[in-house]
Amino acid sequence: MEISEDVVIVGAGIAGLATALALKRVGVRSLVLEKSPELRATGAAISLLSNGWIALNHLGVAHKLTSTSPPTSKGFVTNVANGATQEVSYTGVQQIQGNKNEHRMVHRKALLEALAEELPPGTIRFSSKLISIHTHITHEGFSIATLQLDDGTIIKAKVLVGCDGLHSVVAQWLGLKAPVHCGRVAVRGLAVFPQGHGFKQEFQQFVKPGVKAAFVPINDKDLYWYMNYHSSSTGEEFGGDPKLILREVKENLAKDFPPTFLEVVWHADLSSIHWAPLMYRQPWDVIWGHLSKGNVTVAGDAMHPMTPGLGQGGGSALEDAVVLGRHIGNSFLQNGRRIMPAEVDRTIKGYVKERRWRASGLITASYLAGWAQHVKSGWLTKLIRDIIFYKLLYSFIFGSTYFDCGELPRVPSKVE
Ligand SMILES: Cc1cc2nc3c(=O)[nH]c(=O)nc-3n(C[C@H](O)[C@H](O)[C@H](O)COP(=O)(O)OP(=O)(O)OC[C@H]3O[C@@H](n4cnc5c(N)ncnc54)[C@H](O)[C@@H]3O)c2cc1C
Repeated sequence: MEISEDVVIVGAGIAGLATALALKRVGVRSLVLEKSPELRATGAAISLLSNGWIALNHLGVAHKLTSTSPPTSKGFVTNVANGATQEVSYTGVQQIQGNKNEHRMVHRKALLEALAEELPPGTIRFSSKLISIHTHITHEGFSIATLQLDDGTIIKAKVLVGCDGLHSVVAQWLGLKAPVHCGRVAVRGLAVFPQGHGFKQEFQQFVKPGVKAAFVPINDKDLYWYMNYHSSSTGEEFGGDPKLILREVKENLAKDFPPTFLEVVWHADLSSIHWAPLMYRQPWDVIWGHLSKGNVTVAGDAMHPMTPGLGQGGGSALEDAVVLGRHIGNSFLQNGRRIMPAEVDRTIKGYVKERRWRASGLITASYLAGWAQHVKSGWLTKLIRDIIFYKLLYSFIFGSTYFDCGELPRVPSKVE
């Protein structure tokens, strides 16, 4: 089978669905290819800060999620070794930026569904794995991408956007260097309290040298929890078995943690548990690398995988979507509501130029935040984590999450 499309997006994660929705808002139809048979919500939940909510607002879906995701205005960091607790407030960020910062947790599935249900039927093609890409230049001098799927389907696209995550086929095709391991791994999951958990809407973090864990309510019954720790493991010892992962947390990693954290872990929902090495792309590879070639580009983790120190992977993917939607939308509207192949290269370069420095800045800030919170040595921990990071740099670094990626162009209604 051979199909021709104006815009093809690879991957129905946060970046892919949000990009398809941004394009829909400006009147551009797209096809989203997803290798899984349904939406994948790996990682259970996600924290979104102001930049994510602003982008969701531009996409017209924030209101669908905020009613079920109450804001978290402060948190506490407990030193496991001595029980000392430090309050961390988002109000510091508000003072610096002069703006209202916002932090809310959402179920990943709810976020993906909120985006997907806005798309026209048939936009997402499931069980469609991209295996190779070729481009050719037409007689008119324009680039067309030819995609081969694992079921034998061939798709020709005027624009190709790789939103295919960490191990992106599109990023590899662009020649971007592979993401690197930061030396830490993460266990994430949900804890479910059918009768209600009774915790306040606050972020509770627990730190000891080399280990950071936290939980935060998503609603009155569900909590999101995670544990990040130093390890070069590939996860083979767990073989993907959530029972073994949970046993490692309970019997080893968190055995000396306060009872509040252990209570949350005891309520873990096995089906939600996920173990992952923490990977990122070197910021200089984002600054100097080929983030586009002609009519092909990348967004989300395919462009800028980052460590979760600032909780910015999802939020920055939403920013990408709005910015790409704006660049393609402006060109589309100025060209009589058509994707003009002659314009595509310039349009995509405009998107890349706008995202390159922002994305590399977030990778760097996330790395520094994670590093400062995971220092292994005792006195260094006190100096770097408790004094330099939380007292001096926290507000400044978190200030980068108050960011408005800009609106989508308004689409004038058609005169019939
Ligand atoms: C431990 C941890 C905690 C995190 N916490 C947060 C947080 O609190 N807040 C936050 O904002 N971010 C967080 N992140 C980051 C966030 O999860 C990612 O940045 C985000 O999911 C990226 O979305 P994406 O759409 O770019 O990629 P993905 O979510 O990986 O989606 C890619 C999609 O592409 C599909 N795909 C892949 N290859 C192909 C192919 N060849 N053909 C077709 N389809 C394909 C996949 O099946 C998948 O559906 C965290 C990450 C980790 C590891």
